[in-house]
Amino acid sequence: MRNLFYLLLMLMILILCGGCTEEETIPAKPKPSPAPKPQSVTTPPANNPAKINQPTQYVLADENFSNLQLNVIDKPVYDKYGVWDRHDAGLPMSLPKIEPYHEKNVAYLTFDDGPDDKITPQILDVLKAEGIKATFFVCGNMVEKNPEVLKRIFNEGHAIGNHSYNHVYKELYKSPWDFVAQFMKTDDIIMEHIGVRPLIIRAPGGVAGVFDEDYWDMIDACGYVEFDWNLSTEDATPSKPNATAQVLNVIKQITTLSPRTAIILMHSKAGKEETVKALPELIRMLREWGYDFGVITPMTPQL
Ligand SMILES: [Zn+2]
Repeated sequence: MRNLFYLLLMLMILILCGGCTEEETIPAKPKPSPAPKPQSVTTPPANNPAKINQPTQYVLADENFSNLQLNVIDKPVYDKYGVWDRHDAGLPMSLPKIEPYHEKNVAYLTFDDGPDDKITPQILDVLKAEGIKATFFVCGNMVEKNPEVLKRIFNEGHAIGNHSYNHVYKELYKSPWDFVAQFMKTDDIIMEHIGVRPLIIRAPGGVAGVFDEDYWDMIDACGYVEFDWNLSTEDATPSKPNATAQVLNVIKQITTLSPRTAIILMHSKAGKEETVKALPELIRMLREWGYDFGVITPMTPQL
């Protein structure tokens, strides 16, 4: 009788658990790393156009940063891990030594302080018409306002660099830690929209007079590579040069310096209409002088 009772009990348990599968009863494995999941590159979600064309338009750093010695100059480089993701997962955080590109004369057009919703799209239109790629050093607070413009920059194959969160010198240059904290915050904002973070950064105002050894050590520990500029259209100077004067400024500087690597500073924010107007002539002139066009990556020569 007792055996029959146990048999019935077993049967009831089996019936009650009839829908259970072995898989469901095993607790899900914890994720091995806090790093964001790799993006699907073959079937991008329809509501997220930023994922389109990922496989061909940029290089994704591998876990050890071992794939950044490139043979192209017009592909941006991004990391799928944030600084703390790398730290927490025990991955390398500083970049290894990368040989700089010196094969040809290269012009790197760089646009700081955006993205805004007026000038940046106009710059993108000119770049598209000219068929060249450029680099946009963006601020976190501008990305928050214009995430769609950031996605357009990304989708059209330009490089995105980090230019701090709010560009306020007295906050940024209080200490190396305050400096990188703003860049990490901006990384998070950028990653929220395009799923990757830049490794290239530009210190607002440039590093001269504000960076000491501690700043260099701190950015190196975060895997950031800083790029200032050696040429400028001077579109942010008080003299507010018009388009012609901006092109002449660059011609003057090239004549003086004859640089093999021309990193040209411009701005993509409100009030820079003359920069947009100067762009086609600037590009034509640089082509005439024999420059190729590249985007800034960790392989770009330091000035
Ligand atoms: Zn700036």
